[in-house]
Parts: sequence; structure tokens; C-alpha cells
Amino acid sequence: MTASTVPTSLPQTAPGLLVRGLTTTFDTSRGVAIAAADVDFDVAPGEVVGLVGESGSGKSVTLRSIMRLIREPGKVTGRVEWGGRDLVAMPAEELRRVRGGEIAMIFQEPMTALNPVLPIGAQIEENLVAHTDLNRRQRRERALELMNIVGIPAPERRLDEYPHQFSGGMRQRAMIAIALACSPKLLLADEPTTALDVTIQDQILKLLLDLRDRMAMSVVLVTHDLGVVAATCDRMAVMYAGRIVETGTVADVFACPNHPYTRGLLGSVPRSGQSRTMLQSIDGTPPNLTDLPDGCAFHPRCSFATEICLKQRPPLDLVGTDGRRAACHHHERVAAAEPIL
Ligand code: SF4
Repeated sequence: MTASTVPTSLPQTAPGLLVRGLTTTFDTSRGVAIAAADVDFDVAPGEVVGLVGESGSGKSVTLRSIMRLIREPGKVTGRVEWGGRDLVAMPAEELRRVRGGEIAMIFQEPMTALNPVLPIGAQIEENLVAHTDLNRRQRRERALELMNIVGIPAPERRLDEYPHQFSGGMRQRAMIAIALACSPKLLLADEPTTALDVTIQDQILKLLLDLRDRMAMSVVLVTHDLGVVAATCDRMAVMYAGRIVETGTVADVFACPNHPYTRGLLGSVPRSGQSRTMLQSIDGTPPNLTDLPDGCAFHPRCSFATEICLKQRPPLDLVGTDGRRAACHHHERVAAAEPIL
């Protein structure tokens, strides 16, 4: 089976996410930048899927395109099926009901995503006003409940406080409380722990997993941190130059990467319990999205590249069981290469 034979629709009863051929472009003064190209992936109910890659690889753009948060001059095409409906083609009014209700998003930097002149409680209640029939007292009770769920101490008092009175970790918890206000079925989390120290990061990730279990929520987690992926995700998709280049279960991809870029990312992660060795880095820099190389976009940085790589872009083909795919002409050679130390 090839990428073109990926099943294209879920049974109508399955409230999963299907992304098919999602492409996002921006007209710039230097030409058209292809920020995401032909992105295909699924998220099953209750599943956590990690989108991984360097800055500019298309992870956050993909998340924003799913939520239709791309503004002109950006253009989004393709299909994002949610509960049998296509979010890309959905009328704006219907989309407003889905956004913040069935699907919620956590942004990377809570200090800029939160409104600095509104108390946290009012920001949680805004979502409830938009998506529920709860009266004022009930909204306040729900806001208190959410503050408790995300572990914000003294919630009665803190509901009336402003974002600048919260620490970084508490602001991120407040963002999660806002996102969870209407019990979404899908949470899109864009680097939710990047700005936090490791202790708080660990708490937030455990909180997300706990909420996933309690609320049967699916999660798409954007991160550049493979440690976060290993600790939280069921499946992962590695992005490079706007395309998914490898996808599979986290266990399979970590055990045996089939794409040289994934290999490079794994080689650059420090491993505990091993003698001290030099961390590996990936030579070169990511390509200019307005001027991508012919063939495989990774070929200028790839030690496995041959003639064909300079001419033909490799499709994202099945390379194993359990939905394992890789976009590499030489994936068998990559998989058989010396393990990464
Ligand atoms: Fe490297 Fe060729 Fe595979 Fe691209 S297709 S990742 S250049 S080996």
C-alpha cells in the first residue's frame, strides 16, 4: 500500500481526526513559501500524537491550519475531517461552534496568548458563554472546578487575579483550564511546555495525560523535544521542510528510524545512563521554504543521498506494520545502519 491508498474516511461514529493533503502556503516578496505540504495523519480517540521537527519544519503551521487560524496572505487547502465534517470547507459560523467547544488549542506562550487586562476567571468564562447555556453562577462554579482540575491553588482568590500575577507554570495551567472549559474531544497543544523549567514541564505533561485518560480526549502535541514525545505520545510524525517524512508508533520510530532526518534528531538527544559521548548534530541548515531543493528536500544534508534523491521526491510509503511510513528512497539502508549511540 502507498501513501495514495491511505484510508480516506473513518466510520461516521468514530470521532477521530483525519488530516489529508493539508497544504499551507504564504505569498511572500521572495515567492510562495510552502509551509506545510500534503500533510496526512490521523488521531484516534484518546490517542496522543506528537508532531516533531526543527523550527520552521511546519509543525505549528499544521496545527494552526487544522484550526483555520491562518490569516491572509496564507492559503490552506486539503481536508481536515472531524466527526465526518471538513473543517477546511466548514462555514465560519459552524467553525466557531467547533473551535473552543469540540476542539481546543493551547498556545506556546501563555503570556502573549492570555488577555493581560482580564482576570483569569473571566477568560475561562468567556469560553463557557460562547459554547454553553450555563448561567453566571454555574459558569463561576465550572471555572472553579477547572482551576482545581489543573492544580491551581487557592482557586477562589486566583480566579479574580490577572495573568501577570501568575507564574509561568500557573499561566500555562490557566491556559489549559481555558482550553478544557467545554470538555473538548480534541486538544491541539503547540509546544505547551517549551517556556517552562523541567519540573513544571513534567507536571504539565502528567496533567495532560491524566486529563486525556479522564476525559477520553485526543491530543496532538507539537514539540521539538524528543524526550517529551517519548514520555507522552503513542504515535509520532516527524516533519521536515513542511512535509511528514516519517511516522509510526513512538516505540517503533525510536527503536529503528527509517529516515536519516529522524536518525539525526535521535542522535542529537542526550541519553541518560550512558558514558559521556559527543552529541551528534545534523550538518547544514533547514532549506528556504520559498526555494526548496529538487528531489528530496533533505538531500543537501543527507549522508545516505544518491543520484535519485537529487531528482525524485520520495513518497511517504508504508515501510512496516502498524501504519509505519517513511519518505526515503533508501529507508531499508537507513534502518539497517549502525544503531545511534
Ligand atoms: Fe536522504 Fe535520499 Fe532518503 Fe532523502 S531520499 S532522506 S536524500 S537518502
